[in-house]
Amino acid sequence: MTHRRFAFPSIFAALVLLAATTFAQTGVKHFSGDAWWAHVQFLAGDNLEGRETGSEGLRKAQAYVVDQFKKAGLEPAGTDGFYQPVKFVSREIVESESSAALISGGNAQPLVLGDDAYFSTRANLSPDAITAKLVFVGYGLKIPEQNFDDLAGLDLKGKIVVYLAGSPADTPTALSAHYQTGLERWKSLKAAGVIGTIAIPNPASMDIPWSRITLSRTHPSMDLVGKEFDETEGLKLSLVFNPANAEKLFAGSGHTFAEIAALGKDRKPLPRFPLAVSLKAHATMKTKSVESANLIAKLPGSDSTLKNEYVVLSAHLDHVGIGEPINGDKIYNGAMDNAAGSAAAMEIAASWKDQPHPKRSILFVIVCAEEKGLLGSKYFAEHPTVPSKSIVADVNIDMFLPIVPIKVLKVQGIGESNLGDLAKDAAAAYGVRVQADPQPLRNAFIRSDQYSFIRHGVPSVKLDLGFDPGSPDEAVFKEWLTVRYHAPSDDLSQPVDKASAATYEEILRQLLATIADTEARPQWKSDSFFRRFAKGE
Ligand SMILES: [Zn+2]
Repeated sequence: MTHRRFAFPSIFAALVLLAATTFAQTGVKHFSGDAWWAHVQFLAGDNLEGRETGSEGLRKAQAYVVDQFKKAGLEPAGTDGFYQPVKFVSREIVESESSAALISGGNAQPLVLGDDAYFSTRANLSPDAITAKLVFVGYGLKIPEQNFDDLAGLDLKGKIVVYLAGSPADTPTALSAHYQTGLERWKSLKAAGVIGTIAIPNPASMDIPWSRITLSRTHPSMDLVGKEFDETEGLKLSLVFNPANAEKLFAGSGHTFAEIAALGKDRKPLPRFPLAVSLKAHATMKTKSVESANLIAKLPGSDSTLKNEYVVLSAHLDHVGIGEPINGDKIYNGAMDNAAGSAAAMEIAASWKDQPHPKRSILFVIVCAEEKGLLGSKYFAEHPTVPSKSIVADVNIDMFLPIVPIKVLKVQGIGESNLGDLAKDAAAAYGVRVQADPQPLRNAFIRSDQYSFIRHGVPSVKLDLGFDPGSPDEAVFKEWLTVRYHAPSDDLSQPVDKASAATYEEILRQLLATIADTEARPQWKSDSFFRRFAKGE
């Protein structure tokens, strides 16, 4: 599983280095980074207003991408030319008509929405006032493979559960990621009779400080229209609680949040117990219909049989739009997240123009609504525009972060399928090492579009620039996440490394070509947890 760290026997390393040198000398260079940056400049320009799903800005971005795909000679493979329309419902909390309070001994202590907590509109919250007892359920996870059950032995019928985001340290990354998805989490909570959830972000693994998380709390969230997409049916109330104010929840329980956070920091087992306070809450939401689209383009394969199979390169084009100003800037440009990835996809698509095509077809799937919870890719995976069994792999690009010279690539899903091995070879050809995710607590494996494909049985990987723990690069990445991730400063004024981006594109192109040219379809590893989703197994 992915806990295994990448081991690199030295003789093998020498051989790879030799191969890399040879390749670098003889290999064709397809990318310089300049055309990539020109695409990023268009997509992340202020006039595209942060490319929110359903917005005019995203429509402009999509028209640009379609234009580039046409220039590259790709074939339309959507349901309406290059487009695959997708319908959404958007939900917005009306805080002035909503409230939440902690009740203890008949006294109500109102919560300040934004400071103490906010309503999560990812679920279709009940319009009725709700009062229920609270139970702290540790990480709130049920992981049968680990014989781990935070819900066992607790009376949770009609209760609201409070949990700390994260998982115990001995949980393999893949299991940890999978069981923390909204869908899986709610499945076990619902079965236990739970009616609502209060999530406390783990202070030890928060990407974004609370002050910035809470800024976007009234921003509309979206869901796919269609019964097949309702993942939280029965969830009446959902709050996210500020860890800095979380002692309020634990008052009178015999435990403190300080104690919980200290255990959670090292992912130690957590106690589970009823809380002394109840919650009374009432949420008012405004809903409306939104339409957007995925873009699907095909580079036809060159082999008469294999061309009927597809290697997907996915990237999301949407970002979070216009939001609360930070330092006077309200446009969340999403230059690295993920104009950069969409730009790389366009560049890679164009690189096969007037070149022999790989044997399998390559399907460029440029999705919308990733920022709304992987919704565009979820829709595509559920309603693919090519036969679902013909999709052999997904390689996803999302926020690959060419902000340092490229030395090591972090491969999400490295140990799950032989795509991890192929990615290692492709990187080695350009003198780049690979590593498993050194920050499994960030749950990145389920936080981008590859996960939609994985749930449909398709072996998938996502590649990002990485860093060696303790290196100066680590500080660069940490700073980027804290300051620029999902902030207006992820814009065109930030420093980027174009040469890194170009090498990244070469590696991705090589990886796609290898997958497309290898006779055997990619396979899940026999011990991969995600193998269970593969059809017919
Ligand atoms: Zn994002």
